[in-house]
Amino acid sequence: MFNVFGLNPIIMKNVKARGYVEPTPVQSAVIRPALDGRDLVVTAETGSGKTAAFALPLIEHLMGKKERSMEKKPQALPAALVLCPTREVAQQLNGEIAWFARGTGISTAAVYGGVGMQPQVNALKSGTTIIVATPGRLLDHLQRGNVDLGGIKVLILDEADRMLDMGFLPDVSRIISRTPRERQTMLFSATMPHEVLGLVNRFLRNPATLAEEENTTPPETLAQAVCPAVQEEKTKLLVSLLRERNSSRVLVFARTKYRAERVARQLAREGFRAACIHGGRSQQQRDAALDGFRRGQYKVLVGTDVAARGIDVFGVTHVVNYDFPSEPNEYIHRVGRTARAGRDGSAVSFVTMEDRKVLQDIEHVLGQRIPLWETQNS
Ligand code: AMP
Repeated sequence: MFNVFGLNPIIMKNVKARGYVEPTPVQSAVIRPALDGRDLVVTAETGSGKTAAFALPLIEHLMGKKERSMEKKPQALPAALVLCPTREVAQQLNGEIAWFARGTGISTAAVYGGVGMQPQVNALKSGTTIIVATPGRLLDHLQRGNVDLGGIKVLILDEADRMLDMGFLPDVSRIISRTPRERQTMLFSATMPHEVLGLVNRFLRNPATLAEEENTTPPETLAQAVCPAVQEEKTKLLVSLLRERNSSRVLVFARTKYRAERVARQLAREGFRAACIHGGRSQQQRDAALDGFRRGQYKVLVGTDVAARGIDVFGVTHVVNYDFPSEPNEYIHRVGRTARAGRDGSAVSFVTMEDRKVLQDIEHVLGQRIPLWETQNS
């Protein structure tokens, strides 16, 4: 139960209103040491409940600060910073944090690239308590003097492996160097490659290390299948999968922006409502695609890893690896977009000759063979 943590009643009310009854394993592991103010390194991925794991203690911490500083002049500088890899993740985190902060007087603002600066400048200047940001845009604001990170008490690095994958290490380092040394830092990452550990060693102090147990185990409700394929046949296979009765919300992963666009076009030609999401699209296009997919306007969302990997859309029935991932963690991340929270889901992967080695690696990590796909249409 959440009440073991002794959180402020306003926060507890929000937790209840959000429909959370039992903490997830990562929440059980993280909330207490986070409340104690410890630096933390947490192996956890999207879907584990990691957002609430850091958001709840963060808000509790900031509420305490607020009450104590009541008589002083209002705190104008932001007190907490959450860094994350993409706009979509920033929006998701910001929404979730805002939910838990309702009625607390704590405000949160999201800052990311691909949209105008001015609304973000206004939010930053109006004295927001929490900033959720992608590194590039935040650095831009810092360099223009739009924000001062000198008041940061809590720093959260979310999806650290993805941030580094995307080449954000220099930006992240520069941003952290603008925050006070005396702060609490929590780092969340699905994987802990060398580069992430480097970040930990440089910026965290005597952190507690918490690992999510089932990191490499996809949920039991997930049906996985592989389908041997040659490049030219992939779209035909995808179309036949989309004609299956139960495939109502399908997330398709393609290797490049160009390929994602092409697949979406081919599907549209076949009469499917398909949208596309990747780094080459404008913010507005990405929002519209994701929103339409959420609302069921699009049955299919085709994306590249960078844009689609972290998205949280309820009720994805199928994940299709149109192009196979390049390593096991990638696979586990992608297929984790479906079969969430006890629901059924399927992951079908098209495998070419060149992909066989990676398939073996994945099966090794999973400790099981992935069966061949049997289409319901044959
Ligand atoms: P996250 O890993 O933070 O992206 O969360 C994944 C999903 O699980 C989100 O849709 C959350 O709203 C949901 N969630 C997180 N914690 C809980 C909980 N304790 N009970 C029920 N759902 C939760």
